Amino acid sequence: MSYDALEATRYYFDKAAKILDLPDDVSLQLKTPHREVQVECNIELDDGSIGTFIGFRVQHDNSRGPFKGGLRYHHHVDAEEVTALATLMTWKTAVVGVPFGGAKGGIQCKPWDLSPAELQRLTRKFVDGVYDVIGPTKDIPAPDMNTNAQVMAWFFDQYAKYRGYSPGVVTGKPVEMAGSLGRASATGRGAVLATLELLKTLGEDIAGKRIVIQGFGNVGSWAGRIYQGLGAKIVGISDITGGYVNPEGIDCEAAATHVAEHKSLEGFAAERIDGDAILTLDCDILVPAALGGQLTKDNARDVKATIIVEGANGPTTPEADEIFIERGIHVIPDIYANAGGVTVSYFEWAQNMQHFYWEEERVNNELERVMKKAFKSIHEVATKHSCDLRTAAFVLGIGRVWEATRLRGL
Ligand code: NAD
Repeated sequence: MSYDALEATRYYFDKAAKILDLPDDVSLQLKTPHREVQVECNIELDDGSIGTFIGFRVQHDNSRGPFKGGLRYHHHVDAEEVTALATLMTWKTAVVGVPFGGAKGGIQCKPWDLSPAELQRLTRKFVDGVYDVIGPTKDIPAPDMNTNAQVMAWFFDQYAKYRGYSPGVVTGKPVEMAGSLGRASATGRGAVLATLELLKTLGEDIAGKRIVIQGFGNVGSWAGRIYQGLGAKIVGISDITGGYVNPEGIDCEAAATHVAEHKSLEGFAAERIDGDAILTLDCDILVPAALGGQLTKDNARDVKATIIVEGANGPTTPEADEIFIERGIHVIPDIYANAGGVTVSYFEWAQNMQHFYWEEERVNNELERVMKKAFKSIHEVATKHSCDLRTAAFVLGIGRVWEATRLRGL
């Protein structure tokens, strides 16, 4: 793990718990994960040798509904990081009011070193290890870093071997395999909708805003394309290969096509800069949409943006967050800014349970309704307690989870 994600989520929890006046025993109950599973995944590699990988699933809370959260393939995945991300999911589903709890999973691996066949074997092996604790009314995984609709299709197929046809076991599936229209773009779209809501309160317009996006995967590339469609100028993007800059504006459609063809931005026609330098580039809005722990005490004072939209989970360390508050920079926190993904995952799950499928327009309209409603609630809490948006979102999410926990009883 590259930074202490768990310590960061606990820091934000404690800040909100103070405002909510939560007793210590309640805080401990809410912070403690319900179940942590670790599985050994042995697969045959293409060269005939054995590959051994460790997979995790942490189920943090299900007081408001089945556990829900993504599945990440990355070499930084470990028990602590997965626990931190599972905790964030609990508050996130509560903030947007979808009837799920929080979970997260991952496999410690370097997916870029694995062939599609190896990735498929690894995914199926992971399902073999966890199928008993997941399911459409128990725990529903979804894509996250380095997992996609294809991985969800393998997951769905392997689970079906144990439990029969159960499309609601995972979300983010291909549309051809009981997925939802609008799911692929949902997290990016949600981040854009969140930005529009904040801009409204500031009396500002998105058109003409200069935007920088770190990470040009699912979240970053969709956010970029949708911002661009609204008249904003994307002046910098980055991925694992580095930063790509154009003060006149990058065509995100062309960049997405380049990534689809070449697997990364390498070779994309724009000025090259160091990947880390993208975060402090001159712009109005910064969208970290890659890894956690990117905005730290070392670069927070150099950030030029006045608005930060957390497409990624946990991109801002607590020290950087305090600097942004002090500098009057508006941070739209991850547990709201990237909640468009889990919101449309909920729509996908609802469609799967009913075997009745929606048009994309309905998905996007419902997403807009949810994001607007959640922003209104966060903004009201922020105004009432004179606090920043992150603290307000945590107060809202934790408050709702605590209410459900209290109603259920011990
Ligand atoms: P992805 O795998 O599709 O894309 C990740 C991108 O980040 C890639 O472009 C990759 O090259 C880039 N990247 C990796 N390391 C980098 C580095 N050091 N510097 C710059 N770029 C780097 O992943 P994604 O699904 O877009 O997820 C991105 C973030 O958004 C993660 O934090 C994830 O937890 C969060 N998120 C995703 C979803 C979703 O629906 N996919 C939902 C909510 C939150």
